[in-house]
Amino acid sequence: MRLILLGPPGAGKGTQAARVSAANGVPAISTGDIFRANIKNETALGRQVKEITASGGYVPDEITNAIVRDRLAEQDAAHGFLLDGYPRTTGQVEALDAMLAEAGHSLDAVVELTVDTDEVVQRLLARAQDQGRADDTEEVVRERMRIYAEETAPLAAVYRERGLLSQVDGMGTVEEVTGRLEAALARTTG
Ligand code: ADP
Repeated sequence: MRLILLGPPGAGKGTQAARVSAANGVPAISTGDIFRANIKNETALGRQVKEITASGGYVPDEITNAIVRDRLAEQDAAHGFLLDGYPRTTGQVEALDAMLAEAGHSLDAVVELTVDTDEVVQRLLARAQDQGRADDTEEVVRERMRIYAEETAPLAAVYRERGLLSQVDGMGTVEEVTGRLEAALARTTG
């Protein structure tokens, strides 16, 4: 199964990605997690992306695409993956298309988690207190939402035109959303 999970910051993609990947035996790959791990470990990549992620901006495509290319080349992704937080720009869509084409693979589905924006801002602010993420202050949250609307929301239409998009209501309990996601996947991937 090769799957993309789309949705705004705070839609619960990370939580759902972990559950869906465990249930389907494919790794969940989160570019946000990869960047955070590199920042924490003070790697060269971490130093490159620290300020950008802290301000809510997007890491340049060439950096992000190279990271995903390396990650998808790992053994555990050979038979499938769930991408969480990638692609986020049309340039990343094209790069992913090229990576998949080279490997002779194709996407099975793109699922967009839809949420109420006000509710999501509240969730993110609550998470800021729990996890102390540097990018969860109100100002940065609003900036991430703005950039999402501008850069990433249009990707849904791209995948809809390809007949790959399903939309899943991301509001409700974690279990409710997982149930809807699994139902959508059963419909689209058989
Ligand atoms: P979110 O809660 O916004 O979904 P993520 O954990 O996915 O957060 O990403 C955190 C930050 O990492 C983003 O705000 C951005 O700065 C950077 N980032 C993650 N994925 C990408 C990507 N595909 N392209 C560019 N930047 C990214």
